[in-house]
Amino acid sequence: MPKPTVAIVGRPNVGKSTIFNRIVGERISIVEDIPGVTRDRIYSSGEWLNQHFNLIDTGGIEISDAPFMTQIREQAEIAIDEADVIIFMTNGREGLTTADEQVAKILYRSHKPVVVAVNKVDNPDMRENLYDFYALGFGEPVPISGSHGLGLGDLLDLVIANFPKREEQEYDEDIIKFSLIGRPNVGKSSLVNALLGEDRVIVSDIAGTTRDAIDTPYTYDGKDYVIIDTAGMRKKGKVYETTEKYSVLRALRAIERSDVVLVVINGEEGIIEQDKKIAGYAHEAGRAIVIVVNKWDAVDKDDKTMKEFEQKIRDHFLFLDYAPIVFLSAKTKRRIHTLIPKIELASENHSMRVVTTVLNDVVMDAVAMNPTPTDKGQRLKIYYATQVAIKPPTFVIFVNDPELLHFSYKRFLENRIRDAFGFEGTPIKIIARPRK
Ligand code: GDP
Ligand code: GDP
Repeated sequence: MPKPTVAIVGRPNVGKSTIFNRIVGERISIVEDIPGVTRDRIYSSGEWLNQHFNLIDTGGIEISDAPFMTQIREQAEIAIDEADVIIFMTNGREGLTTADEQVAKILYRSHKPVVVAVNKVDNPDMRENLYDFYALGFGEPVPISGSHGLGLGDLLDLVIANFPKREEQEYDEDIIKFSLIGRPNVGKSSLVNALLGEDRVIVSDIAGTTRDAIDTPYTYDGKDYVIIDTAGMRKKGKVYETTEKYSVLRALRAIERSDVVLVVINGEEGIIEQDKKIAGYAHEAGRAIVIVVNKWDAVDKDDKTMKEFEQKIRDHFLFLDYAPIVFLSAKTKRRIHTLIPKIELASENHSMRVVTTVLNDVVMDAVAMNPTPTDKGQRLKIYYATQVAIKPPTFVIFVNDPELLHFSYKRFLENRIRDAFGFEGTPIKIIARPRK
């Protein structure tokens, strides 16, 4: 069951990001550090009373150069497009403003459930100002205080009460779900169309369906797949669709629902910082990854070009050293047949389980080859390793003191495990636990 999505909208400075951070709390990422990848805190997940949901801070999506009112209007439209429930945040100290009323007008038309939060109500005396906000017409406003953490429970109670009851489409376990991510114009939709064949172009608009509902079934060689979020690839010509933050938001949502993520790069233009950032998200989310270099037809090539480009990718995406690379052209369809076998391979490795005794042999051999590090006179001792999860393969290593398993030694163990078992196309996680 896909998680419902909640979006926060409202004028600047009402406290959206404060509340966002309160709700999502601190999340621990899989990797210690990916250079060049900073977390944009606009999209994360939260939980209330065992209900998990995604949360978007639309205030973090800036449409550069747009006037103030255009900005918040666009943000409200993003919320309407993306969310199941909208938190409309206002400022109880300033009272109701015309900008609030403008936002309300946009939200009325959406027919999405809206919960009004009146922030900065830091003490009970201030509740008197609440009455103005009833005029917005979204029912009872909820007083909250982001800085004091007050009222959040009441707010979230209302939010989850408004979650849709629908049963969304779930796919069979053995159907591989994949998505295509990458910055605008790298050729994602062209590639989907090339895979599907001329006759099945991505739907342009289906009235009344939410964007998320648009996944596309795909059959290759008698096997079924689902291409996730083809909706996010179709262009509706909205201003915000070209902003970087919005494309990141779409990518994050697609990644979350995928088994395999295709990181699409424009071979004609080469790699830029934004490619790296987007790839970093897929890695961090623990998805299987295939790197696709598109527009290979438009590149002047000799017999070395591909190797050189591959090296460039390896240099830029150090953290994706496990991801296979496919060169192709969505336009001419050359080499397009090489893609699906790599998706298959990545997916298989993503859910591979290894035999515990063999794993321990590999780990102990590694330790014999390269002694464990010491820190402040104490040496790391490794007792036992076991695989605790798949998608991605996750290993727990029982040690004397987890603090002693430094990043570089962890990396070394990861490489030994990869050498022994393959795992091409999938990140793997190693977690150190103290032996009890
Ligand atoms: P955003 O622009 O809507 O994301 O607003 P921010 O979350 O950045 O908050 C704007 C300012 O309001 C910051 O200085 C916050 O510290 C402050 N603020 C946020 N919540 C509260 C609150 O509940 N009470 C008070 N007094 N200040 C708050
Ligand atoms: P998206 O924004 O990532 O979905 O990119 P599109 O699929 O809309 O493609 C952007 C532009 O690149 C379009 O003009 C396409 O015709 C062009 N394009 C896509 N794939 C290829 C390719 O393999 N070769 C060349 N030369 N152009 C391509």
